[in-house]
Amino acid sequence: MKIYYDKDTDLSIIQNMNVAVLGYGSQGFAHAHNLRQSGIKNLVVGLRETSSSATKAREAGFSVATVSDAVQNSHFVMILLPDENQSDVYRTEIEPHLNEGATIAFAHGFNIHYELIEPRSDLDVIMIAPKGPGHTVRANYEKGIGILALIAIAQDKSHRARETALSYAAAIGAGRAGILETTFREETETDLFGEQVVLCGGAAALVQAGFETLVEAGYAPEMAYFECLHELKLIVDFFYEGGITNMWYTVSNTAEYGGLSRGHRIVNEESKKEMKRILEEIQTGVFASEFVTESLAGAPVVKSKRRLAEAHQIEKVGSRLRALMPWINEAKLVDRDKN
Ligand code: NAD
Ligand code: MG
Repeated sequence: MKIYYDKDTDLSIIQNMNVAVLGYGSQGFAHAHNLRQSGIKNLVVGLRETSSSATKAREAGFSVATVSDAVQNSHFVMILLPDENQSDVYRTEIEPHLNEGATIAFAHGFNIHYELIEPRSDLDVIMIAPKGPGHTVRANYEKGIGILALIAIAQDKSHRARETALSYAAAIGAGRAGILETTFREETETDLFGEQVVLCGGAAALVQAGFETLVEAGYAPEMAYFECLHELKLIVDFFYEGGITNMWYTVSNTAEYGGLSRGHRIVNEESKKEMKRILEEIQTGVFASEFVTESLAGAPVVKSKRRLAEAHQIEKVGSRLRALMPWINEAKLVDRDKN
């Protein structure tokens, strides 16, 4: 795969455009701040008048407009609304106001890949997808290290879509870390798989099940928290810097033997079969339509599962223990008052 860096990009392309960032959540906050700091002068954040995000964006000094006004005055529109709202907002508030030949951009391929949005043919349709949470996109920019991002082109009416995507990627700081080109399909399917199976779904379920097993066996919840959640970060840091073998190198021989001989009893052939089934649900669009239905119904599954997750003993023990570890709070990425 070819990797692009700042030197392969032309920041002035995006600096000379009127840019609208729609949404000011996890990604919108980070993009807006990074774009402003990268010298994008004509920048507007598009939001509903009534949203709490609008107050936060105004307080951060951004010019805020309704979605349709923001779109109307822009050449470049980055859509950072929740995936489940995008097609509705696109139809009613975005497309009717898009200038001829404008560029629309996404940070995830979901709506284009599953054809929930079918853009007009005069538009450029691109993706700039940072490979990390919005809070990290901002924090890394501030540290000067940036974050990896993927770009993809779905429609290239202008024959300049790649240059535009690279320019925007550089403006959010990705050119310092690396920019890779992919397709909407590949980004969408691998992203969904990663978050469902390994990163969010799999990791959270593994931690909770480990915690419950220890607590049910009569061990102190504090011990179970440290062992199954807190230390996970310390272990993942070794994965991150040198791969899985780097982790085996640093842990004790006891941990290495125990882990190598037991790990595959936990994640085994059966688990892998389930991973393949989950991948098929993603590839066939079964997951996408399930998610759309869930949203139309007012997100009943998410709401009830979120309540259960919040009520889990691991959260209560965790918040007590984290209060005793001030360094965690000091290095915090998420500040709910700002975004
Ligand atoms: P979010 O839920 O954090 O924020 C959404 C924003 O859109 C909020 O400011 C909200 O007020 C606004 N909004 C919601 N409905 C609206 C409407 N009808 N009209 C106007 N504004 C509306 O969303 P997010 O997690 O930042 O996700 C945005 C996009 O970025 C998605 O495509 C997502 O897949 C992608 N993405 C997110 C992350 C992440 O770290 N969260 C990582 C990579 C890609
Ligand atoms: Mg992802």
